[in-house]
This record gives sequence, structure tokens and C-alpha cells, in this order.
Amino acid sequence: MSSKSTGLRHWRQRFNALFQDHEIFVRTHGHVRFLRVSAVWQKRVALIVAAVLFVWAGTMLAVLVNQLLTADDRAAVAQQQAEANAAEARIAKYRNSVAETAADLAERQDQLDEWSKESFGVEPAAVTDAAASEATQPLKTSAIDPSLPPEAQALARLEARQEAFAGKLLAAVNDRAAKAETAVAALGLNPSDLVRNAAAGRGGPFIPYRGKMGKAKALGPSFAALEGALFRMEVLERTLVAVPSGNPANVLMMSSGFGYRSDPFTGAGAMHAGLDFRGPTGTPILAAAPGRVSFVGQKSGYGNVVEVDHGQGILTRYAHLSGFTAKVGSQVAAGEQIAKMGSTGRSTGSHLHFEVRLNGVAVNPRRFLEAKADVLEVKADARQRVGSVARGAR
Ligand SMILES: [Zn+2]
Repeated sequence: MSSKSTGLRHWRQRFNALFQDHEIFVRTHGHVRFLRVSAVWQKRVALIVAAVLFVWAGTMLAVLVNQLLTADDRAAVAQQQAEANAAEARIAKYRNSVAETAADLAERQDQLDEWSKESFGVEPAAVTDAAASEATQPLKTSAIDPSLPPEAQALARLEARQEAFAGKLLAAVNDRAAKAETAVAALGLNPSDLVRNAAAGRGGPFIPYRGKMGKAKALGPSFAALEGALFRMEVLERTLVAVPSGNPANVLMMSSGFGYRSDPFTGAGAMHAGLDFRGPTGTPILAAAPGRVSFVGQKSGYGNVVEVDHGQGILTRYAHLSGFTAKVGSQVAAGEQIAKMGSTGRSTGSHLHFEVRLNGVAVNPRRFLEAKADVLEVKADARQRVGSVARGAR
């Protein structure tokens, strides 16, 4: 016999000893009844109660454990939520910065488009083929910070491309401005004075470029330089276009030059402020450059006079006319007839007195009329560009 079975029997004996048959006497109204509670019945009830207690304890334990787990889970979820919120805030911040950069880029692109339209009458891509093709070529990726998120890298590439395009545009604009400057200087005009005067007339407070989101954003050097370069090109080329280099009459002989001469009436020394062209009465008088007719009428000594304002401070005066074919305010092209040759005013015979005034001062028209071919070539380029802008604006 093993000690284990001996122990088991011992516990069974002790358990059985707890439940013994009982006989209970119950007396009711003098009658005595006899109830018997068997040991087997007692054991059954005890077992049922034990089983119920066991299930209850197990359930309670499960609930408690479940509650503890849920609390842990809740902490974990809260932790995850906090992390998600933080990440969301970071993403929102990043998205805002991306949106801001994108908005800045878009605004700059709009500015480039506007400048291109204003200055060339076309979209930037068409300004120069070289600029366009180089601008669309993929840039060296080494220029982009590899630690940036993909979207930011894409924007950085776009920004670099925009700056590269602005650089090409700037080079093209500076090239044109330099050619115009040389041509203007060859005509005896001072390019720096012209640009300065035009800028003074422009006025207004300087408003630095800030971008759509209101935050100062560092502009690429080319982009920042473009506005000034475009203004310079515009002033110089418009001056070239305004220069009266067209023949005011289809006659060859000049009867009198600019400067000192003896007065044809008194013989005294006099200043002649223009050039005289001799020709038959009624010879068509032509505008020497495009402009707006600013005066039609009589002036003392000049007789019948037409004046054309060419802009950029340049004005031409046509005198001693026998008749007018243009009205004040009308826009005239270079070579368009505005009047007829005559001999009105202080005149000894049919001729045209042709005067060029620069900011109100008479200058020798000869340098404009005798402009060299290379100057006229630059002028023709300028006229084409300014003309295309004017057509584009309509
Ligand atoms: Zn004259």
C-alpha cells in the first residue's frame, strides 16, 4: 500500500465524517414529526454549493483580470493616441510648410508668366528656346537635400528649376538690354539717365516680395534681379523705338543744318534748332517714329505745325506746313503721313523744318536720321518685341 492512497483514504474518511445521517424531530401543534437528512443528500448540496462558489470565483477572477487588461490596453491606446496626435501635428505642420512652399512657387511662377507676357507678349517657355529646354531638363539631384521628405524634394526640384529658368530669362533680358544700351549710346543718348528718369517717374514705395503666405521667402538671385533687368530693357528698347530715325519727307536735299547759321531774313547770327528739307509744296510729311499726335496748329515763326510725342521724353516737330492730315490725339506709325510741305511762318520757300526735342531741349536730328545699320537692327528687334507686347495686350 502506498502512502498516497493511504492519505487519500484518510481525507475521504474525514470528509465522510462531516456528513452523517441526521434525524430531526419537528413538533408541530403537538404532533411530532420525524425528518431524516441523509449524509448522501448533505454531500450533494455541499458539492453544488462548492461548484457555484467555484464558478463565481472563476468568473470574478476573469472579470478582474479582464478589467486589469483593459486598463493596460487603455493606457496603451492612450499612448498610441498621443503619439498619433503628435505625428498628426507634425504632419500638419509639414503639410502647411509644403503648402506654403507650393504657394510661393505658384506665385513666383505667376510673376514669371506676367513678366514674360509684359516683356515678350508670350509665356516664359517661348521666350528663348534655350531657356525653355534647359529649364525642363532634370537637375542634378545632388543639389537637393536627400533627408527631405519626397514631396519637399519635389518642390525643391521645382524651385531649383524655376530659379534656373529665371537665370536663363535674366541672361536673355540682360543681353537685350546691353544691345539696346549700346545702340542708345551710339545715338548720343545717355542710357543711365534714361533709366534713372524713367524710374523717377515710376515712383511708389518699394514693397519687398513676400510670397502668398506673407512670410519673407529667400528668392533666388536671378529671380530677384529680373525685375530691375526687365525695367532697364523696357526703357532702353522703348527709347530706341521712340527714336525718330525715319525720314520725315522723301526728299534728299537738306537746305540747312542744325546749329549756328546766319538768319535767312536778317543775316544776323542765329541758332537753327532743326533741319530743313527742301521740296515741292504738298510733299507728304511723314512721322519719323511711332507716336501720338500731340499738337496740330500754328506757332509763332513756325507757321503750321504738327508735333508727335514718341514717349520717353522724345518729341518731333514739323513746321511751315501747307496742310494737316493728322488730328491731335491720333496714334501714328513710323512713315505715316501727318501733313503736307509748305512755306507758312518765317519761310523763304517751300520746305520742311524738322525738329527733335529731348525732354524739351532741341537736339540735332542728324544722329537719329543717320543711325547706323547695326543700331537700326537693334531698333527693329526692339520694335518687334514692343509691338508684340502691345498686340498681346489688346
Ligand atoms: Zn528750319
